[in-house]
Amino acid sequence: MHQDRLDRVRAAMGSAGIDVCLLSVGPDLPWLIGYEAMPLERLTMLVVPVDREPTLVVPQLEVPRVVHHPEVFALRGWGETADPIDIVADLVGSARRAAIGNRTWAQFLVALQRRLPDVGFSEASAVIGPLRAVKDPAELSVLRAAGAAVDRIAAELQSGGIPLIGRTEAEVSAELGRRILAEGHHRVNFAIVAAGENAASPHHEPGGRVIRAGEVVLCDFGGTMHAEGGAGYCSDITRCVVTGEPTPEMRGVYDVLFDAQRAAVAAGSVGTTCEAVDAAARRPITEAGYGEFFMHRTGHGIGVEEHEDPYIVLGNTHRLEVGNVYSVEPGIYLPGRFGFRLEDIVATTASGPESLNHADHTLVAVDA
Ligand code: ZN
Ligand code: ZN
Repeated sequence: MHQDRLDRVRAAMGSAGIDVCLLSVGPDLPWLIGYEAMPLERLTMLVVPVDREPTLVVPQLEVPRVVHHPEVFALRGWGETADPIDIVADLVGSARRAAIGNRTWAQFLVALQRRLPDVGFSEASAVIGPLRAVKDPAELSVLRAAGAAVDRIAAELQSGGIPLIGRTEAEVSAELGRRILAEGHHRVNFAIVAAGENAASPHHEPGGRVIRAGEVVLCDFGGTMHAEGGAGYCSDITRCVVTGEPTPEMRGVYDVLFDAQRAAVAAGSVGTTCEAVDAAARRPITEAGYGEFFMHRTGHGIGVEEHEDPYIVLGNTHRLEVGNVYSVEPGIYLPGRFGFRLEDIVATTASGPESLNHADHTLVAVDA
């Protein structure tokens, strides 16, 4: 698996005219060799020359964390008094065009630029992003498992198994976080809980607001689930419930959203552009008069990162291919009153779009 990904990265480097790839903290490194750099001040960097064996430069004290695959990469621990920038510079050698991981800390890039004045740096996402956007069967199976895990939590929410009335958003968010871990994720990425008027703020920070009867409660949550010996893959789902009977207006708005989300999921066949999927969600919402209240893109790719290529947004003419995995999450947000978002993760397959989330898509009334 690692060798195959490395071969594909090298081929992409060759076509892009990149001599060396430099990967540090962030998702590229675990995707490529199964190792996640510690986000600390000591430099970890995988140096991938286009024509030679890669070397993982890692602080000596973190060497025991590395699952070393000697056939894939060499390992070079550096002691407390060594200069890792010198080590990386030696490995870069005569390379002139370097692609550096987008999440690399600026202090390391600046030090490398100073040490290697003749090297031109570009973002590694141009090389690796398109590769990461096409999931192989092993990646898909982890994404499916992560999707099924958050589906079970959503089903508990919808059945009243997670009490809402009288609790704060923050308390419910903490419970969602505990359940994300209990369902087999290794990390909680976020657990938005937004009640009443707060549901009209798409990225609301859950706080001390107490949930009352008769309100919309929007829950958007996900975590990272690790593959066997490899990188972690993300889940992400949004469901809304009402604590009591929804008003006719709530029902009407939700019906529009439900149809829009379903249409956009169905639109995602091979060859369809990302912006066409966005349009499929936006059209029914605009026609119903709520266009101005759907102010964000329809979705984002997902994999080792919560948000990655391909983005489902106007202007993205990328055509979906087998293995693309992305969210479809239109929303309608009425400021000061309430809002709804409905989100599934969808995989592009040869036989059509496959939703990785199956929790009830309707607006469920709960009485707890
Ligand atoms: Zn989400
Ligand atoms: Zn999302």
